[in-house]
Amino acid sequence: MGLETKLPRLTGEGFITTKVNELIAWGRKNSLWPYPFGTACCAIEMMATLSSRYDMARFGAEVIRFSPRQSDLIIVSGRISLKMMPVLLQIYSQVPEPKWVISMGACCSTGGVFNTYPQIQGIDQFMPVDVYIPGCPPRPESLIDALVHIQKQIESDAKAHKFTSAAAN
Ligand code: SF4
Repeated sequence: MGLETKLPRLTGEGFITTKVNELIAWGRKNSLWPYPFGTACCAIEMMATLSSRYDMARFGAEVIRFSPRQSDLIIVSGRISLKMMPVLLQIYSQVPEPKWVISMGACCSTGGVFNTYPQIQGIDQFMPVDVYIPGCPPRPESLIDALVHIQKQIESDAKAHKFTSAAAN
């Protein structure tokens, strides 16, 4: 039922060669643990993406964590206010490296239609963002597309030896 049934020729004979950092990246990209930072309507689409209809589990990212210390991918979905930004920054600082950020929807990427003083006009003014998802709200397919983009980024970073974690070096 395990790997040996998928790769019968590898039981007792044959071998696989790879690089350690690429093996770690393969594990990372297929087991991202998202931290859902949902503050408004975009979060409803994020929840839909996790449901059985869209099934983000197909990409190994269904283990939603509400502790930043157990996460490696922050999905920011919704409006971020001036009062909320320090909270988001604290959570970002508590996520261990390596970590990735998806900015989901127009509001957290640019402020959206809320061009007002209490609304952050783009979270990337304060923290790094890896993937921006346009839309108001973006469809679940867009979030899955962003996740796949992060996976490709992890893979290409491993090939370019960009990981900084001690385990990967
Ligand atoms: S981008 Fe649109 S759907 Fe998303 S939080 Fe803003 S107003 Fe709501």
